[in-house]
Amino acid sequence: MQKIQMTTPLVEMDGDEMTRIIWKMIKDNLLSPYIDLKTEYYDLGLKKRDETDDQITIDAAEATKKYGVAVKCATITPNAARVEEYHLKKMYKSPNGTIRALLDGTVFRAPILIKGIEPYVRSWKKPITMARHAYGDVYKNSEIRVPGAGTAEIIFTAEDGTVTRKTIHKFTGPGIIQGIHNTDKSIEGFARSCFEYALSVKQDLWFSCKDTISKTYDTHFKEIFQKLYDEEYKEKFEAVGTTYFYTLIDDAVARVMRSEGGFVWALKNYDGDVMSDMMASSFGSLALMTSILVSPAGYFEYEAAHGTVQRHYYKYLKGEKTSTNSVATIFAWTGALRKRGELDGNQALQDFADKLDEATLETIESGKMTGDLALITTIPEVQKLGTEEFIFAIRETLDKKMNA
Ligand code: NAP
Ligand code: MG
Repeated sequence: MQKIQMTTPLVEMDGDEMTRIIWKMIKDNLLSPYIDLKTEYYDLGLKKRDETDDQITIDAAEATKKYGVAVKCATITPNAARVEEYHLKKMYKSPNGTIRALLDGTVFRAPILIKGIEPYVRSWKKPITMARHAYGDVYKNSEIRVPGAGTAEIIFTAEDGTVTRKTIHKFTGPGIIQGIHNTDKSIEGFARSCFEYALSVKQDLWFSCKDTISKTYDTHFKEIFQKLYDEEYKEKFEAVGTTYFYTLIDDAVARVMRSEGGFVWALKNYDGDVMSDMMASSFGSLALMTSILVSPAGYFEYEAAHGTVQRHYYKYLKGEKTSTNSVATIFAWTGALRKRGELDGNQALQDFADKLDEATLETIESGKMTGDLALITTIPEVQKLGTEEFIFAIRETLDKKMNA
C-alpha cells in the first residue's frame, strides 16, 4: 500500500508524562504506517521549555500562524512541586495560556460520543461543543469591601478629559462593590472564532447571555455577535445549511437539556466556566473530551482536554501496567489531519482521519477499551486493555478498514 502524502506540514507540539508516551505510540502505530507524516516538530516537554527559557512555546505558536493547523500533546503547567521535580529555572506560564495569548484564540471543548458510553442526559445524541470567552468580566475585576454608609460610583475618564459617572448605590451600611469590563476587540475576536468554528464543523451556533437584565453590558455582546453574523457570516452559514441564533441564558440552559445536541454553544467567561465542567461530566469522561483552539484569523490547534495523567506515568516509570485512554489524543491528531486535508484539498488525508476515528470508536464498541471506560460502559462483555494493547487493537480495526 502506498502511503498518503501531505503537501503542508502540521505543527506538532509534543508534551509531557503519560501523554508523551501515548503520543509516540499513536504516531508509530496509527499514523506513520499509513501517512508519509509531514510535521514541523516542537518539543514542548518541560525539559525543552526550560532549556529554551520557554522560547520553544512561542516558536510553536508562531509556526501555527504560519501553517494554520497544529496538534498539541498535553503539557505540564509548572507549580512549585514541578519546579523542584524538574529543577526548573523558573515557574513558566501555562503553554496553553502562552499559545492562546499569541493566537488570540477561543477554546472549544467537544465530547466524543460512543455507543455504550452514554451521556447522563438521555436526549443527547450528538456532541454539544462549548465555547467560553477567555477574557475579562469577573476574571479581571476590581472589588471593594464597603465598610459603611457612603456612595459608590462608576466613573470613566476619556483621554480628552470628559468624565462620565453613574451612581451604583447609596450605601446606608456595609456592603461590597465590583467593577468589571470587557473590550469590543476581545468580544469581536471571540465572536469571530465562534463563527469560524461553527462553520468548520457545519453546525448551528448558539450564543446566550443575560441581556434582559444587563441592558448595556450583556446587550453589547449580543449586538456584536448579531452584527458580525449579519455582515460577514449569514451567507456562509446559509450556504452550508446552518444558522446562528441568540437566546437568553436561562432559556438556552432549558433548551440544551431537551436538545439532541449537535451544535456549538458560545458563552461569556463565567457562564462558560461553570457550564463547561457540567457538560464535560455529563458526557461521561474527561478522557473523551477534545479541545480546539480557534483564532479569529482562522488558525486551528487541536488537543485533548485532559492533562498529562501524572499518576499513570509514575506507574509506567515503575514498570507497572497502565491503562491510559488515548482516544482524545487520537482525535486531536485526526482533527488536525482532517483540517489540514480540507485546507490543502487533500481528500485522502481527510478520508484517513475519518477511518481512524471510526476504527477507534468501533474498537471500543466491540468491547475493547481502557479501564476508565470499562468502569462506566453499558456494554456487557468488556475486555480491559493496557495503554499499548488498546492502541494495537485500534490498529487491527484500522488495518481491516484500510484494506477493505
Ligand atoms: P489529568 O492529567 O487530567 O488527570 C487527572 C485524572 O483523570 C487522572 O489521574 C486519571 O484518573 C484521569 N484521567 C485523565 N485523563 C485520562 C486518560 N486519558 N485516561 C485515563 N484516565 C485519565 O490531570 P492532573 O493529573 O491533575 O494533571 C497532570 C498535569 O497535567 C499537571 O501538571 C497539569 O498542569 C497538566 N494539565 C495539562 C493540560 C493541558 O496541557 N491541556 C490540561 C490539564 C492539566 P485516575 O488516576 O483515577 O485513573
Ligand atoms: Mg472551571
